[in-house]
Amino acid sequence: MDEIIDGLYVGSSMAESDKPKLKECRITHILSVASHYVPSYPNEFVYKLISIDDLPEENIIQYFPECNKFISGALEEGGCVLVHCMAGQSRSAVIAAAYLMQKDGLTSEQALTAIKKKRRQINPNDGFIDQLQLYYDISYDVSPAKALYRRFLINHSAEHYREYGKIENIVAGVDPTTQQMLPTQRLVRCKKCRRALVIEANILDHQAGVGQVAFSYNKRNGSGANTPHAFPQNRACSSLFVEPMEWMDGISDGLIENKIACPKCQAKLGSYNWAGAQCSCGKWIIPSFQIHRNRIDEIRQRLQ
Ligand SMILES: [Zn+2]
Ligand SMILES: [Zn+2]
Repeated sequence: MDEIIDGLYVGSSMAESDKPKLKECRITHILSVASHYVPSYPNEFVYKLISIDDLPEENIIQYFPECNKFISGALEEGGCVLVHCMAGQSRSAVIAAAYLMQKDGLTSEQALTAIKKKRRQINPNDGFIDQLQLYYDISYDVSPAKALYRRFLINHSAEHYREYGKIENIVAGVDPTTQQMLPTQRLVRCKKCRRALVIEANILDHQAGVGQVAFSYNKRNGSGANTPHAFPQNRACSSLFVEPMEWMDGISDGLIENKIACPKCQAKLGSYNWAGAQCSCGKWIIPSFQIHRNRIDEIRQRLQ
């Protein structure tokens, strides 16, 4: 195991079972980030167990807040912490990186570079590196209030559906009628009854054309679906694609596809499908929550 900063160590499962070495390094707390890990010395160290596989599709970012708290708590008590996984290369390095990022306001690259200087063999999987990048982009605040984090969770639900055929743990956009509108916020309303439907942060942009757009959070594939603050510019698209919203019928019941109707006047607005749908421009959007542009008004809220 290797000391990354004062009192914080990263290592493998071998390190976790090497009691003399743990004592020599004055380890008091152990954070095990591995699937169904059984602690070697549950009575001698303070353990925290995070059961997760080293797979790119695993949601590791959800554990960052509690892991940071565990590490900072241990260090503040004057203890030393070992963060370990199996090989000490991916999961443990990511947890340590998230801690450094939040503590010192670092980017993911800065944090991983700092760890690599002390432990050359670290090698997080691509999905985890994306999640560290996302952590930076949401200012270390892992909350569904952050549009980018919602995108990530929505993609997770869609992947879960592809894999297991059902939808779980859906994070839907907050109904704009229940939140305070900022004066400059763009707003989409029902054309018929003018009921507010979505705000700019709920809208998913895509480049018109062929190919496929996932709801993913992945800067490197350049999908263009990540931009939360852009209205589609291309008028070739006859629909607006949005996040799943609280007011949509069937979303919270886990229905795979359904019509989208205005929650006030019941006018037909469009439809959704977790398996995806094709835009009029030719692009496949996965999952797809589409509202026909001729059923809505897109306006910008005026300053009072
Ligand atoms: Zn389109
Ligand atoms: Zn309406």
